[in-house]
Amino acid sequence: MPSPAHSTVDCDLLVIGSGAGGLSAAVTAAHLGLKVIVAEKDAQYGGTTAWSGGWMWVPRNPLAIEAGIQENIEQPLAYLRHELGAQFDEVRARAFLEHGPRMVDFFRRRTALQFIDGNAIPDFHGHTPHAATGGRSVCAAPFDGRRLGARLHELKPPLHETTLWGMGVAAGAELRHFFNALHQRASFWYVAKKVLRHWRDLLVHRRGTQLVNGNALVAGLAHSLLDKGGELWVSSPATRLLKDGHKVSGAVLHTPRSAVQVHARRGVLLACGGFAHDTARKRELLPHAPTGQEHWSAGSRGNTGDGLRLGESAGGQVRRDLAQAAALAPVSLVPRAQLRHDGGAPEGGPMHFPHLIERAKPGLIAVNRRGARFTNEANAYHDVMQGLLAATPTGETPEAWLVCDHRFIRYYGLGAVKPAPMPLRPWLANGYLKRGATLGELAAACGIDAAGLQATVTRYNRLALEGVDKDFGRGETAYNRIQGDAARATAHGLANPCMAPIERGPFYAVKVVMGSLGTFAGLRTNERAQVLDADDQPIVGLYANGNDMSSFMGGHYPAGGITLGPAMTFGFIAAHQMAGTDPAHSPLN
Ligand SMILES: Cc1cc2nc3c(=O)[nH]c(=O)nc-3n(C[C@H](O)[C@H](O)[C@H](O)COP(=O)(O)OP(=O)(O)OC[C@H]3O[C@@H](n4cnc5c(N)ncnc54)[C@H](O)[C@@H]3O)c2cc1C
Repeated sequence: MPSPAHSTVDCDLLVIGSGAGGLSAAVTAAHLGLKVIVAEKDAQYGGTTAWSGGWMWVPRNPLAIEAGIQENIEQPLAYLRHELGAQFDEVRARAFLEHGPRMVDFFRRRTALQFIDGNAIPDFHGHTPHAATGGRSVCAAPFDGRRLGARLHELKPPLHETTLWGMGVAAGAELRHFFNALHQRASFWYVAKKVLRHWRDLLVHRRGTQLVNGNALVAGLAHSLLDKGGELWVSSPATRLLKDGHKVSGAVLHTPRSAVQVHARRGVLLACGGFAHDTARKRELLPHAPTGQEHWSAGSRGNTGDGLRLGESAGGQVRRDLAQAAALAPVSLVPRAQLRHDGGAPEGGPMHFPHLIERAKPGLIAVNRRGARFTNEANAYHDVMQGLLAATPTGETPEAWLVCDHRFIRYYGLGAVKPAPMPLRPWLANGYLKRGATLGELAAACGIDAAGLQATVTRYNRLALEGVDKDFGRGETAYNRIQGDAARATAHGLANPCMAPIERGPFYAVKVVMGSLGTFAGLRTNERAQVLDADDQPIVGLYANGNDMSSFMGGHYPAGGITLGPAMTFGFIAAHQMAGTDPAHSPLN
């Protein structure tokens, strides 16, 4: 990393935090001719973004239009109006919907970051008016990490437990090849080739270079920034904002060499990733975490609320009125002995595994301590956890068990447990995975009600054979169905792609607790990403983005990619604002 030779450095834009929220603004600003410094607290750049799926919700994006999916801005706007209710903020929603397509257009035409389409990916809530069945999202295209040269080693690797030997697996067709590796010749060869290339990478580069998902997103952004002469300093936490009268004029960074005052002529952008690991803020904003400890976020451990505190120190306001302060997700706690990499566990603590893939597949249910189902498991992670909170009596801990049979776990895996041929034994030995020859034995191993579990599975199996979930509507929406597995369900003569009987022991379970993918509550901003003071006035020189900006979704979760899509878009907008240009007439488009 370039280390500052002086204790005072000048730039146009100082970005604090190197996830999508920071890097999107940094790359755009560098292309607009600004001198940019990105400061990252960790020894590696990328934050939670580098661990993410890399999906961005951007309705009306150019890839959808090229595929013939045309939407008027009023359609996604109407969907958001229905979804967000009292939290709907039309000004910010319009800014996002207008500039999102321009953001995608800019990156794909002018930078190293490329996209694949989400034209078959539906919005989460198919029952809501104006929900789309596809065409509103894009994902980062795979990226050859070797293009980063020496800076590849400072890129945060994917969350180890979500990978195979550190190799990321892209959603969709590639993931299906991995499930089918032992069942179909073409899939076997696909996987074998990928794994061999990965092992070669480990030998030659000491890490994987076939980057996918969020790792590809960060790599594409970082490459584009460095290519334009932008600076990216790792191990350089910002500890204090500098002010010039009422204007925020820079920040103090603690670099490995010394403390440096960075003066930023056009602005400082806070993009520290929110408060996922800030105990005090969790205690204040998450009712299910009364001591601040009862929330196990899968977000990056460096996201300790620094940006929110820095913003408040300059007069910014943290919103406390969102429908939910965090992007909830079921998380299982992986014992530390299983960690073979910097999977993100703090000293002595477990790794937090987010359950994003297997819940909708046919043959898995989620039950509470009474052994009863409580929600549609195929719904989005946030909804599943809202369902758990709603079904948990006051005074009880909101927790659940994901239950499946042997056939399921060997085909799909379960949480951190990988499908066959990877062994189950280590997971049984460390207590992460519970097993029972019968449902009664499994219930005893989990400490849940045996009769309740037996009755639940009996009923669920009957509904699975009928193909209709009369209890929770599993498989009803387009989102449920795409998360399910139509091919496998059909092969077994089943009508519902999200339901199959749980019938042949041994049976397995993994416990899930309240967690998140990140946080929603952040600094109040306007549609230009400027941080607002108590009088709703922009604080001159101060911007926030990513999870440091309070989500304009208001704590609702209408679609996958609603953090990264806005983060990329408001970064694009903020950079134009700082450069004094209108993104609607951007010289970059
Ligand atoms: C497994 C997983 C999958 C996900 N998939 C998706 C998806 O597909 N689509 C989607 O929209 N969302 C997804 N999310 C959520 C999404 O990844 C995050 O909400 C998003 O990455 C946050 O971006 P950010 O830029 O705000 O923060 P981050 O990417 O976390 O970056 C913040 C950075 O700021 C640094 N920092 C903190 N304090 C300081 C300081 N004082 N000085 C300097 N640097 C500091 C941190 O170390 C960190 O590197 C996923 C999350 C997880 C865990």
